[in-house]
Amino acid sequence: MTGHRCIMRSAADSSRDRTGVNGWAVASAAGVLLGAPLFVAYAWVCCRTFGGALAEPLAALATDAPGALHRLLAVAPRPTAAGFAIFAAWYLLQAILMLLLPGRTTLGAVTPAGHRLAYRLNGALAWLVTHALLYLAAFRWGLFRPTLVYEQWGGLLVAANVAGLVIALAAWVKAHRWPTHADDRRFSSSAVHDFFAGIELNPRIGRLDLKLFHIGRVGMSAWTVVNLSFAAQQYATLGRVTTAMLVLNVLQLVYVLDLFWREDWYVRTIDIQHDRFGFYLAWGGVAWLPFMYTLPAAFLVAHPVDLSPAAAAAVLALGLAGYAIFLSANRQRDRFRRAPDGRCRIAGRDATFVPARYVSDDGQFHESRLLTSGWWALSRHPNYIGDAVMALAFSLTCGFTHPLPYFYAVYLPALLVHRAWRDEARCRAKYGPAWDAYRSAVPARIVPGVW
Ligand code: NDP
Repeated sequence: MTGHRCIMRSAADSSRDRTGVNGWAVASAAGVLLGAPLFVAYAWVCCRTFGGALAEPLAALATDAPGALHRLLAVAPRPTAAGFAIFAAWYLLQAILMLLLPGRTTLGAVTPAGHRLAYRLNGALAWLVTHALLYLAAFRWGLFRPTLVYEQWGGLLVAANVAGLVIALAAWVKAHRWPTHADDRRFSSSAVHDFFAGIELNPRIGRLDLKLFHIGRVGMSAWTVVNLSFAAQQYATLGRVTTAMLVLNVLQLVYVLDLFWREDWYVRTIDIQHDRFGFYLAWGGVAWLPFMYTLPAAFLVAHPVDLSPAAAAAVLALGLAGYAIFLSANRQRDRFRRAPDGRCRIAGRDATFVPARYVSDDGQFHESRLLTSGWWALSRHPNYIGDAVMALAFSLTCGFTHPLPYFYAVYLPALLVHRAWRDEARCRAKYGPAWDAYRSAVPARIVPGVW
């Protein structure tokens, strides 16, 4: 396949100039900063006090604002010593495991300033040790009940939100005062936007990579622990775990384990390769992910659902089909990018691609390739389709009585559409005409024939 060569300096990635951001971007950042933590607390209140009814507290506000606000505040999550202590212990444990456990070393992508960082891949082992330790502590040593997370959910929610905010503030100060790679920083014209989106690309404290740690360890490891605690709570209440809770736990376990088994791949995703470390990733990793992605499990504690064997099998099959697309598409791209000169077999044939070229901030030229075969012949983001199908399967375990557990199934496609849009703007700036040639070769952005 013929390709275009492009030499283009990405203005968006330059650390020397301030990138202009428009008022809409600043207002959106401020809106998320203020609204997202409130929304997490609101979802908790809906789940815990209003039986999963999303609109009820808001509807009450519309009819009797002062009274409803008073009642809402009375049931809002409160800071507790236990919440802060458990969060601190979790955070510390994850940091120790990440720093001390052995693992293979891999190299990340070349940064805009030309750095190439090494990552120690011990996420799978850290996940295993974490869960083994928690199992022993709960079931062998009797240090706490397996329902601890469910019992302390409100206090933990407050602690995680405070921690997320403090970490984002610390990241902002570190980026100004003690940057890990000063030439890989990006400042915008707005301090609010910088705080939200981040300044440093790959901040580290010693050997601790802050991005991989907060998303890949503190956040993703918590997901399965929270789900298991909610399953334990269901068992404590009902004397059994429902099929819906089982299917949900299995599907989300597959999703979480995938990231740890293929951590090598994860260090080449947008999170690690392109996004900066600010509130979006820091608070997102420690507060949004463990509390919002586990809403279906929280819902199933309040509303146990018994799926028939046929329904359970159908939802499981849908989720696994989504996972198969997600895994296969991500593996194809990763295998292709690692193959010398892009020569490899994709879906049983020689890979086809558009050659591309770009220049990093240090003036060095780099060759790159954009895959156009396998899943990547159908769409420019086929991996997002599998992810969205899985998200739908998670929510379907909860039946159709309430919209609350469908939050993730609606939120994730919206996030991925926004992600595709900003990723393509960045790739266009990076690769120039080669990106246009790639777009012509693969016209569908996400869903073939639709968009
Ligand atoms: P990708 O892993 O698809 O990475 C996108 C990058 O890949 C681009 O920036 C570009 O980087 C490179 N690229 C783009 N097109 C091609 C091509 N044709 N051939 C080779 N390389 C290409 O995106 P994400 O990081 O967004 O997603 C990773 C996975 O994580 C997805 O499956 C997604 O669904 C999932 N995800 C899940 C989330 C959740 O909350 N559950 C959130 C976000 C993602 P370069 O500059 O190197 O060319």
